[in-house]
Amino acid sequence: MDSEPSIDREDLSTVVAEIGNTLRFMARSGCRGFDCSPQSLAAIAAWGNPSAGCGETLAEIRSDLGDCRRCGLAGGRKHIVFGSGNPHARLVFVGEGPGHEEDQQGEPFVGAAGQLLTKIIQAMKLNRNDVYICNIIKCRPPGNRNPAPDEIAACSPFLERQIAAIKPKLICALGTFAAQTLLATNIPISKLRGKFYPYCGVKVLPTYHPAFLLRNPERKRDVWEDVQKLMQELGRE
Ligand code: URA
Repeated sequence: MDSEPSIDREDLSTVVAEIGNTLRFMARSGCRGFDCSPQSLAAIAAWGNPSAGCGETLAEIRSDLGDCRRCGLAGGRKHIVFGSGNPHARLVFVGEGPGHEEDQQGEPFVGAAGQLLTKIIQAMKLNRNDVYICNIIKCRPPGNRNPAPDEIAACSPFLERQIAAIKPKLICALGTFAAQTLLATNIPISKLRGKFYPYCGVKVLPTYHPAFLLRNPERKRDVWEDVQKLMQELGRE
């Protein structure tokens, strides 16, 4: 008699995490019930399947974002910081949100922390045009405070669409806020870092934020270890 196919615990927790991510994505997109129309089922099937996608380009997503007024951060910003880099990048870096310099220039990670991120990317024998760099939120919170839940809820569907359009192999979540938001967890970054987690069909590796490294240079060794795991996955050891 055929035995039941077995599923190991790790596979099971990956499946459970994917279901959780999908349901959270749907909730953030405004879904409050189950719409079983063929269109919805096709959209769900495409989500998390990097080869399917829904055909949107980054330019279309940027145009849909427009002069965004979906949350209160619009009033205090100079520029929307949408993201920059290779629209087909295999590796996407996701930070928290623009700081003063990024708000002034409209580009992510161009201040002091950004210069360190550039060096990290170069240490991987890549440059900023090989990867894509963006943030959980696209407008600078006043005084660089953490983004509020309603601000994240307004902004994260755009990040999710950017990831679905780029279809990267890997995401590097920079710092507590990006890692905890993407993975919907409160686990501290010190525990999350250096391991891969599933997010919408993409492997996420959390590591310390470059701004944290500027204050705690002794942690650079940890980040270098984490980055080597990314390089291994990219076949660039
Ligand atoms: N810190 C971030 O998290 N993102 C930026 O773009 C700049 C600094």
